[in-house]
Amino acid sequence: MTRDAVIASKHRVVVVGAGFGGLSFIDGIASGTAEITLIDKQNHHLFQPLLYQAATTVLPISDIAWPIRMLMRKRRDVRVVEGEVCGVDTSRKLVRTARGDTYPYDTLLLAPGSQPSYFGHEEWASAAPGLKTASDALALRTRILAAFEEREREGKGRAPVIAIIGGGPTGVELAGMIANLCSRDLVRDFRTLDTAQTRIVIIDAADRILSSLPDNLAGYGEEKLRKMGVELKLGETVTGCHRDHAALKSGDFECDVTIWAAGTKAVPVAEWLGVDAGRDGRIDVEPDLSVPGQPDVFVIGDAAKVGWTHDKSVPGLAPAAKQEGAYVARVVSHRLRQGSDPGAFAYRHQGDLATIGRNAAVVRLGSMDFTGRIAWWLWGLAHIFFLITMRSRIAVLLHWFVLQFQARSDARLSFSDDDVASRTGPAASEESDNDETD
Ligand SMILES: Cc1cc2nc3c(=O)[nH]c(=O)nc-3n(C[C@H](O)[C@H](O)[C@H](O)COP(=O)(O)OP(=O)(O)OC[C@H]3O[C@@H](n4cnc5c(N)ncnc54)[C@H](O)[C@@H]3O)c2cc1C
Repeated sequence: MTRDAVIASKHRVVVVGAGFGGLSFIDGIASGTAEITLIDKQNHHLFQPLLYQAATTVLPISDIAWPIRMLMRKRRDVRVVEGEVCGVDTSRKLVRTARGDTYPYDTLLLAPGSQPSYFGHEEWASAAPGLKTASDALALRTRILAAFEEREREGKGRAPVIAIIGGGPTGVELAGMIANLCSRDLVRDFRTLDTAQTRIVIIDAADRILSSLPDNLAGYGEEKLRKMGVELKLGETVTGCHRDHAALKSGDFECDVTIWAAGTKAVPVAEWLGVDAGRDGRIDVEPDLSVPGQPDVFVIGDAAKVGWTHDKSVPGLAPAAKQEGAYVARVVSHRLRQGSDPGAFAYRHQGDLATIGRNAAVVRLGSMDFTGRIAWWLWGLAHIFFLITMRSRIAVLLHWFVLQFQARSDARLSFSDDDVASRTGPAASEESDNDETD
């Protein structure tokens, strides 16, 4: 065995998170270069950009999630561990999981992504769940469908009110998909309800939606949503979330379902490492994406803050996490004497995309803007391209194609209420009286 091979075979890399960043890193490390341990708290990789389609019954979860062990089947150099990381001992170079297991590393890649941020009001989570995991999508789907069942049982013909807090891409995409669900798919399922009368309301403290997009695209989005019957309550600050109403500065807003889409923060990697982070929990990393003062620890994806232009950071998007993962793979390979020095990380922005329900989207590619059906197909093709397996690409394409002509029914299944109940115990909604966002 050559000296280089000995160094490589002993080099232990621990990767935390089998999301876009973590998997892209492993993809970039040639098989056999190092001993890799991949730790994730879930047993699957999740394609989050289509998560709200699973929550609104358009796609089954199995089209957008894949078991990590299946994805790593051909990588004999990767050991897969299901476990929730809760700390890092940087002096002893150990990663700790909640179960108390430890995993030694020579190089550590932290790519655990982000989680919903309630601006310090975590107690709002039970009344207004966010959308981040597969179980969040199933719980949300159950909660939405349960609201219709409840109204049907009442027999008064009153359709539910659904409040979405946050008018960014997630809030807008959810509102559009729920509007499609109510005006098309559910219409024939209920006897006493006119589901098309469902009130879907986006609440946002800003005076416009889609604030990350240019005015013309945000304006199109606003107009399209209004045409679909979605109400916009802009310039409204949420001061509390409860199971049956959202407390706003202007007064209480009664609703049957409240969904949180107002913000995210990084998984607490800064706490694990004992370093400072901004309000959004992201760690400021070096130009090679390592943690300042810890050259063997890298943070990427939604958990990292990386400079892009003079006044902007790299956005929390899937392509950014993938580029960062691939880049760190080149840095580590170079350190293990394979490949050339990649220099500093440089982000290539691939565009801004958001859907507004079926057949409508806004897309900015370079200096070109697209809206409407053509934008929807551009958005769709970009997402299909990023899906992991060919089977999923074909399945999603087929579902979308069939949806043009008829409503899906199998994805409209709701499951046990246990998961929802565990997040929404009756007391939970009462806890947040008089709370206020900053
Ligand atoms: C609803 C929704 C819609 C989105 N739409 C788009 C879109 O249209 N386009 C786009 O580009 N981006 C979109 N994003 C953002 C995109 O998904 C993220 O930017 C991207 O997933 C970040 O990649 P990552 O590798 O940093 O983290 P992730 O892909 O989130 O992966 C993190 C992994 O770490 C695991 N993990 C977390 N904590 C721990 C822990 N303590 N221990 C062990 N494992 C842990 C998680 O289970 C997960 O598998 C969307 C996100 C959401 C939630």
